[in-house]
Amino acid sequence: MSLSFGRDILSIPGPSVMPDRVLAAMHRAAPNIYEGPLVDMVAGLTPDLKTVAGAAAGDVAIYVSNGHGAWEAALANTLSRGDRVLVLESGRFAAGWGQMAEMLGCEVEIIEAPDGRPVDPDALEARLRADRGHEIKAVLVVQVDTASSVLNDVPAMRAAIDAAGHPALFMVDCIACLGSIPFEFDAWGVDVMVAASQKGLMTPPGLGFVYASAKARAHRGDLITQYWNWDLRFDPEMFYQRFCGTAPTHHLFGLREALTMLVVEEGVEAAWARHRVLAAAVRACVAVWETAASPETGVGFHVGVPAARSDVVTTLRVAGFDPDAMRGFAESQMGLTLGAGIGRFQGRAFRIAHMGHLNPPMILGALGTAEAALRAFGVPIESGLGAAAEVISRALPTAAGRSAHAIPPRVAAAGE
Ligand SMILES: *Cc1c(COP(=O)(O)O)cnc(C)c1O
Repeated sequence: MSLSFGRDILSIPGPSVMPDRVLAAMHRAAPNIYEGPLVDMVAGLTPDLKTVAGAAAGDVAIYVSNGHGAWEAALANTLSRGDRVLVLESGRFAAGWGQMAEMLGCEVEIIEAPDGRPVDPDALEARLRADRGHEIKAVLVVQVDTASSVLNDVPAMRAAIDAAGHPALFMVDCIACLGSIPFEFDAWGVDVMVAASQKGLMTPPGLGFVYASAKARAHRGDLITQYWNWDLRFDPEMFYQRFCGTAPTHHLFGLREALTMLVVEEGVEAAWARHRVLAAAVRACVAVWETAASPETGVGFHVGVPAARSDVVTTLRVAGFDPDAMRGFAESQMGLTLGAGIGRFQGRAFRIAHMGHLNPPMILGALGTAEAALRAFGVPIESGLGAAAEVISRALPTAAGRSAHAIPPRVAAAGE
């Protein structure tokens, strides 16, 4: 028997759930790519992309690429062969970005955070102070590491760079969390930020975004190539050059709809608040699961520092059962797809994503289904669903406010 007949829920940290409205917006005939509605619509994407990232002063380029392409674009536009790059690693993704810099010919140095902890800004400051000759040209960090689910403190890192008086470019990967948690490109003094369409931005994979400060735009090294060159891509008037060829037409229509939902209808700050509540519900549930855990069997938070648990994904370490078998079971028997442990967490963890197009029934459904799968695998847990529902309930308007809102005052119809 399988119970998985109904609407499946995808709870992996990218791609995230794509809203029906986004899919519907993409369902159309091929448009004219030289003038007309597509060209007019795309000019309007830039202001909304800037709003999502707090980047009124920064520029944003759109690439036909995934996040890895955005990584390469960031490096290729600013660095030269032989440049030293400092990578702050708290899971796996910053290291992947660093490997890319290494393949491009940069010298890569890594400061690794202890397992389950964020990057230490003091370690960054000390390393930069020791770099008296300013050989380090760029500092690379990930805001939310999607493997470990660690949240790094981006403003604290900017403060560390400033305290050391170091001129390195500050580059941040927000691929997992842009649109879902606070990020302020201008106010936090970020020089380059990379993002992609398929996580908090609710659009199919295939668009990479690179934000640049004036300082970053003044850097030009010998890694540049025609495709990654961002100079023409910042200009909304240069439609054909902006994409270095044919625009990703349907992705752009999908992105327009997603940004309308996120920026125009919900509002970016309201979306951050929604993610905070739903993530708190996940954590309340996992905390209950964790209480019954023993060294032999159970599940628990991978991230030991509560303040560093991200609002977009939660990594659970496991003991006493095979998390990949449990995930396969949840998918085939119940229609819930959970995230696998990746990198050094492979076979030792699973992940629950809570980013993007997500509401309480979806998250409570995912948690309850994960709970059923864990029980089926003999994990001795108490139910955390009540705690999760409690968090959501407390975040809602009061009952009085709700009923006033839900039942509009009666208006007498004509003739009554
Ligand atoms: C998903 C992700 C990436 C990789 O993005 P792709 O689109 O798969 O290339 C990089 N960094 C972070 C933080 C991510 O979450």
